[in-house]
Amino acid sequence: MLTDTKTLSAFDVTDVRRDFPVLSQKVYGRPLIYLDNAATSQKPQVMIDALVKYYSEYNANIHRGVHYLSQKASQVYDDVRVKLQHLIQANTEREIIFTRGTTESINLVAATYGRKNISKGDEVIISALEHHSNIVPWQLLCEEKGAVLKVIPMNNDAELMLNEFQSLLSERTKFISVVHTSNSMGTINPVKEIIQLAHERNIPVLVDAAQAMVHEELNVRELNCDFMAFSAHKMLGPTGIGGLFGKLNLLEEMPPYQGGGDMIHSVSFEKTTYNEVPFKFEAGTPNIADVIAWGASIDYLNQMDRSAAAAHENELLQYATSELKKVEGVHIVGNARHKTSVVSFIIDGVNTLDAGMYLDTLGIAVRTGHHCTEPVMKRLNISGTIRASFLFYNTKEEVDELVKGVKGAIKLLKTK
Ligand code: PMP
Repeated sequence: MLTDTKTLSAFDVTDVRRDFPVLSQKVYGRPLIYLDNAATSQKPQVMIDALVKYYSEYNANIHRGVHYLSQKASQVYDDVRVKLQHLIQANTEREIIFTRGTTESINLVAATYGRKNISKGDEVIISALEHHSNIVPWQLLCEEKGAVLKVIPMNNDAELMLNEFQSLLSERTKFISVVHTSNSMGTINPVKEIIQLAHERNIPVLVDAAQAMVHEELNVRELNCDFMAFSAHKMLGPTGIGGLFGKLNLLEEMPPYQGGGDMIHSVSFEKTTYNEVPFKFEAGTPNIADVIAWGASIDYLNQMDRSAAAAHENELLQYATSELKKVEGVHIVGNARHKTSVVSFIIDGVNTLDAGMYLDTLGIAVRTGHHCTEPVMKRLNISGTIRASFLFYNTKEEVDELVKGVKGAIKLLKTK
């Protein structure tokens, strides 16, 4: 078991797996093979313990209490903001806002920065690879304002076409929101180049880092993104909590998102003044427990040899891709040159949902369908894929079982 003081010097997958209690269980009498990490990652015991410890030892509301428990909870909660600041290399912890997750972070920016700065006839650019949560908030904003939503197209390998992006930029472009790593195709997008090109025209950029945070050490200063959205549950943390990074000068100019306690400086019936950033964007009692538990996940990530973990994930990606390609009738969907450990595929004559259900009977958890990226599926002329998404705790043996399972599915389910 990983303790607070232990540092992993070399990447040892057997050792790491012991830290994730879910992974050692059996489903339907077979060892669980969890390959649905892009939907949500599993949780290390240290995170679960931190959650239980908060509720059993120092549960209290934060920031307004003079008593011991409140002060302790406030301290641990506030420390997590600093941990996040360091994790993504923000300039100050004030640039980190707690939200419910990536979805709420994007909605926050659309509803505040967007409502203030985007008017009739303006243009917002997203990409063909977006998750629905980075499409719909911008559509809602554009509908409300009479603005136009433009889309960076992708090629057949699910790579964004940067030349096309340049031709989309215009005097009317007021905002760009783009996914760092695609959840359905695994593509890692050239966000740094996109940001550079946008900044030449003073256009701010939001990066959806929901998938990227667990695989890569992101640096917001180096990327120079204006906003970045992420979810705890995809990076070993609990559900229901996430974050928004925003450059301080932008956050300070933005109107509040929701009204309520904590986001105010003073309230009267005539006039309310707002609290400083980040509290201006955090109305009401926050998700104290999950922020605190997320802190333990961040500590866990920090203790790992992250480049060794990334190398292991890349090995799994290469191995799964080459082994699945050997199976007759299997087609990998999304063959970007720069990819994270997500393998989407279809099988000739086998319904994707049926294949997923068959794999489930073998204890193999994959996801099937459009993965909240319907436009990606439409662009590729398919209704969905079977998606195996790997994290550092997965093994080559699990890939072998997946490939065996796929062969079994073909034998049992192939219709033509
Ligand atoms: N963007 C991407 C790329 C995602 O993968 C997801 C989650 N699947 C989201 C946004 C939305 O994240 P959440 O549901 O945690 O808000």
